[in-house]
This record gives sequence, structure tokens and C-alpha cells, in this order.
Amino acid sequence: MAKYTDSVCRLCRREGTKLYLKGDRCYTDKCAFTRRPTPPGQNAPRRRKASEYGIQLREKQKARRTYGVLEKQFRLYYLEAERMKGIAGENLLQLLERRLDNVVYRLGFASSRAQARQFVLHGHITVDGKRVNIPSYIVDTGQVIAIKEKSASKVEQFKTLREGSSKVVVPWLQVDYEKLEGTVSALPAREDIDVPIQEHLIVELYSR
Ligand code: SF4
Repeated sequence: MAKYTDSVCRLCRREGTKLYLKGDRCYTDKCAFTRRPTPPGQNAPRRRKASEYGIQLREKQKARRTYGVLEKQFRLYYLEAERMKGIAGENLLQLLERRLDNVVYRLGFASSRAQARQFVLHGHITVDGKRVNIPSYIVDTGQVIAIKEKSASKVEQFKTLREGSSKVVVPWLQVDYEKLEGTVSALPAREDIDVPIQEHLIVELYSR
């Protein structure tokens, strides 16, 4: 599978906003975007006034990069969102939020979505007691997402989690750090999704 291998901080500078792709570092003054908020590249031109298409495209790229989804898969999510009942843009964000890697991140088990993805790929995560190593797995209401018992004693980050986390967990998830597990108590509503994305622009882009 194709993978983005360049510096992720370039993506924030490209999108002109912080995408929080590097975990704790994003909240410090080491953040590359805080230090240099210009587009990447040597002698990069200053931001010009974008066309309507350009604005829609950037919004889609911002969403795609925030959740770490490749172009083809992102379009599949959109097609699925269109088929679902309700507003396509909101459905799209809901699907992205329900990805297992995002849920692991939202529960505070990982400091970034990229790290959460690694935890899932490395088999540290279970859903309803069964190991699931597919980051794009879509969780549903009532499911229990947990850190595998063996991994809990092996991975340093999981060991310290048992003492609790300062992370504020989103309202549609419940977490028990002692047990190292979380439950999907509801599907995320639009107001529960705090990513600064204007999903209607993505819908407009794909409706062209
Ligand atoms: Fe983006 Fe985080 Fe890098 Fe800052 S540190 S530029 S928020 S990925």
C-alpha cells in the first residue's frame, strides 16, 4: 500500500493550519508550523487567493491528511457517506471518526493517529475481545476497544496509561484506564467532532 513518507509537518505548512499529526510535539513551541507557517519548499510563494475549486480541494486534503487516509480510500468513504441516510458531509466525518485507529487515538491510548495506526497494525488492540489489526476497521455502538493484556505489560506507554490520562475523551466514547478499555457509547454526532473541517466544501468538490 502506498504510504506518505515525507515530513508530516510539511503537510501542516501546506494546508496552512496545524493538523496535529505528531502527538505531544504539536503542543510545544517545537511545532514546525508555529515556527514557520509559510508553505513548504525553498522560495515558496506566499499564499495566493485561491479559486473556489482550490478552496474545496484544500479542505478535502486537510480532512484526508488529518485522518491519514489515502486518496482512493477517501473517495470510497465519500461514496459510502452518500449512500447513507442523512447529510453526506456529516456522514463522511462520522465514518472517518469511527475508524479504529482514530478511536484508539481518541481514547488516549496513543498520542497521535499515526501512532494509533501502528498500535493497531502491530496487533496491540482488540475489539470485543478479538484482535483486530486493520486501522480502517469501522467501530459500532456497544463495541469494546481494548489494549491486549500481553501488550499492556510490554509497551511502556500502556503501562503508564493505567495511572490515568489527562486527555479529555470525546462524549461518544467511554474509557476505563484501569482496564485499558473503551466503549463506543454512541455514534459521533457532528457537534462531537472537533476537527476544523468544513465538510460541505468536500461534498461540493465531489459533486462537480
Ligand atoms: Fe503539524 Fe504537529 Fe508538525 Fe506542528 S508539530 S507542524 S502541528 S505535525
